[in-house]
Amino acid sequence: MKVCIVGAGITGLVLSNFIKDSVIFEYGKIGGKIQTKYYDKFFVELGPDAIIFDQEKIQKIEQALGSIFEKKNFIRYNPTFLYMKNRLYMIPSNFQEFLLTDLLSFFDKVGFIWNFLFRKAKYRGDESLEEFAINRFGKPFFERIIKPIFETVFGTNSDKLMLHFVYPFVKKFEKGVFYRPTLMFNIEDGFYSLIQKIAKNKNIINEKVEKLIVRENGIVVNDSYFFDRIVLTGQAHTISKILENTNFFDDRFIHIRDSLVSNLLSLNYHSSFIYIFILKSKININANGIIFVDDPFLKSITFFSKKWFDSYDVEILRVFAKEKNEEKVINRLSEFLAMFSYDFQKNMIDYFSVFWENALVDYDQNYLKFFENSREFLKELEKVGVFIFGNFIGGTNILDRIIFAINNYGKVIQDRR
Ligand SMILES: Cc1cc2nc3c(=O)[nH]c(=O)nc-3n(C[C@H](O)[C@H](O)[C@H](O)COP(=O)(O)OP(=O)(O)OC[C@H]3O[C@@H](n4cnc5c(N)ncnc54)[C@H](O)[C@@H]3O)c2cc1C
Repeated sequence: MKVCIVGAGITGLVLSNFIKDSVIFEYGKIGGKIQTKYYDKFFVELGPDAIIFDQEKIQKIEQALGSIFEKKNFIRYNPTFLYMKNRLYMIPSNFQEFLLTDLLSFFDKVGFIWNFLFRKAKYRGDESLEEFAINRFGKPFFERIIKPIFETVFGTNSDKLMLHFVYPFVKKFEKGVFYRPTLMFNIEDGFYSLIQKIAKNKNIINEKVEKLIVRENGIVVNDSYFFDRIVLTGQAHTISKILENTNFFDDRFIHIRDSLVSNLLSLNYHSSFIYIFILKSKININANGIIFVDDPFLKSITFFSKKWFDSYDVEILRVFAKEKNEEKVINRLSEFLAMFSYDFQKNMIDYFSVFWENALVDYDQNYLKFFENSREFLKELEKVGVFIFGNFIGGTNILDRIIFAINNYGKVIQDRR
């Protein structure tokens, strides 16, 4: 059975690992969102730069992918801070740090423990992270810990994040506070090293998929290639463009397709980011990241691990900004860094390099509800051999993407005829 996979991001590549007779179409860069820029003595992650540790998922992936994905290549992250009221607060990652943190008052801590032990709000699914977290943890814990972290990681507001999407992460986070630190990891040789291993010997055609024609006996791609099945991966807006150019046997589904496309197209892109190369050793904060609470321009800063820059004279910051105004963001950054008596602006002129891009998807509740209601449509698509593995279904982080591909490759090659 010949399968066409659209996209050589992590999802498409993992999928092709399990489907022997598969061809990947990729018009951009192999790796998709995962891109690492390698320099002489260090590297910069241009896309994802952290893995949220999850023993179960990692074990499953190790079993399925063997030497391509090995836990031993992970390295640990430094702590993350909140910048609030002109101060840095370390985010607690275990119970002892939770007891000692001054992010929460004594009464807030007691309230948290009380809520956890006695008034434990149960998971209902159909509510926002904000509603759930206030009930479960109390308002102070939500406002000072859950809200900033989750909004930065998921790139949207917690009243828009649907609980069923983030619940596994919430549970893990809660457990981390009491029993075990929630750990963030990097990949020792950069995330692209995963891509290099998994892309080896794959059949990749450097072409954009513009059009699908569904026939009784298979699917024609771009008027010239013929396949039994097609799998669409990647972001909502690229998938919706392909769906727009796809015919169906049955007119009943045309309006569903059109509303799916318009819903996918209505998704916003939220944060922007910027990379800044600065002189090393001027900032002495041993941090993985800093999250800004209520800052008008900055959302978060990631410091890349010192380990990578030991013998080099630059350090790299990745900044997620709330708006795309480069000048404002840089001015605000220099104000912030002045706190650490660092003449940012002067040095920046020679050393900075900026990449603005759209980053994270803004999850909209209506859209997700719509998607739930579109299951029928997705089933119909699958009947004609078109599968959607977009990164808006089944989790958007790397581990979730890999697990999604592992769990679902079977249905692509299952014989339905
Ligand atoms: C800035 C940023 C930071 C992130 N940080 C983290 C993090 O720290 N940790 C984490 O776990 N996750 C993070 N993520 C999320 C993670 O990177 C993505 O969820 C994951 O890489 C998506 O993989 P994918 O294969 O599903 O999609 P993609 O990587 O988007 O791959 C889809 C591919 O399809 C190709 N394509 C699309 N349309 C067509 C077409 N018509 N024809 C041919 N090819 C096509 C695209 O060029 C692309 O290469 C981050 C994402 C971003 C943007």
